[in-house]
Parts: sequence; structure tokens; C-alpha cells
Amino acid sequence: MKVELFVNNPWQENTYLLYDETKEAVLIDCGCYRDNEIEKIFNYISDNGLKLVKLLNTHLHIDHIFGIRYIKEEYGFSTCASKLDEYLLAEAPRYSEVLGLQKISEPPAIEEYINDGDIIKFGNSELKAISTPGHSPGGMCYYNKESAVLFSGDTLFEGSIGRTDLPGGSREQLLNGIKTKLLTLPGKVKVYTGHGPDTTIEYEKFNNPFL
Ligand SMILES: [Zn+2]
Repeated sequence: MKVELFVNNPWQENTYLLYDETKEAVLIDCGCYRDNEIEKIFNYISDNGLKLVKLLNTHLHIDHIFGIRYIKEEYGFSTCASKLDEYLLAEAPRYSEVLGLQKISEPPAIEEYINDGDIIKFGNSELKAISTPGHSPGGMCYYNKESAVLFSGDTLFEGSIGRTDLPGGSREQLLNGIKTKLLTLPGKVKVYTGHGPDTTIEYEKFNNPFL
């Protein structure tokens, strides 16, 4: 499985495009805010002959959802995410104003709810959804065992963890999820985070000061 990174919007949010030999692809967290950001992704998809079949969200904070509308317009489908984060879509217009951005309209509704343990299939590949609430109520990580990669959203960062001071956040829940569900994965697993550089489970186990 191949992973291509695109960094988007004023918060340097990481959007990942995953695909395999069948050319089927999924996007994780489409944070594209400006037209030129989504164009980069669409060009990559067409230049490589890929077929986008799904959009997944690790959570629905505003910096991870700007681009859902572009996907809906181009492909006719919306994102798949936890029902527990659904309320954040309605708050997006207000948040965009509070943050001094161009006021956005409410993003398209969730296409399909993701629950803990769900297997998301595309091409010859699959991702397992791992529920890790705490940064937001519906936080999800996505794990591909074969390629030993984890998409951690804003749950786990290199040397840090997601903030838990936003409404619906819980430090206790977040730490519990990281310790019992993420740090128990093989140490070699590469962790693609929601912001900043990637890391590994082993590195975080021994070096992350929050754990
Ligand atoms: Zn977030």
C-alpha cells in the first residue's frame, strides 16, 4: 500500500492518499481549504490513474473537514466518520468565522458511520478502525496491518498527544486509548499523524513525555 501526503490549510493539516496495485484509493482527512490544495490531490489522482473510492475522517474538527465539499462535488460521496463527531459538522460555519477564515457552509453529512473495529476495504487492502476518543468524542485511528501503518489523526503526534481542552475532550480517555490500543501495536508500525512528522509506535513508547 502506498501513502502520499498532502499538507493543507493554515494549520498544516496532513491529508493522506492511500492506494495499492489495483489503483483504488482512499483519502484520510481532506483538509483542503483553498482550490489549489484540492487541485494538487485531484491532479495526483488523475496523473497516477487512481480511482478514489472513499473518504475517511479520523475526526471532524474544522481543520480536517474543509475539503469534504470538494469530494462530494467531484465524486458524489461524503466522508465516513464516527457518529459521535457528527455534531461538529453543524458547528463548522461558526468556527470558521471565529477563526477569522472565510465563512464556510455546513459540510456535507456523513456518508457512512464508522465504529470501533470496522474493516474498511479498498482494492486488495483494508484498514481497521480503532476508536480513540479524547481529542474529540468520535476520534478514530485507521490501521493497516500488512503495511504496518497507522493513521492517528490528532490522537498521537511525534513526541506529543492531541489537545483535550476542546469541548468533548478528555485527557483520561485519550491516554487510555493510546496506551491500551495504540502502544500495544507492533513497535515497527509507522504512525502517520494529523499534523507534523510521522513517527513509530516504538519511538513514542520510549520517548513521548506525555505517555
Ligand atoms: Zn483536531
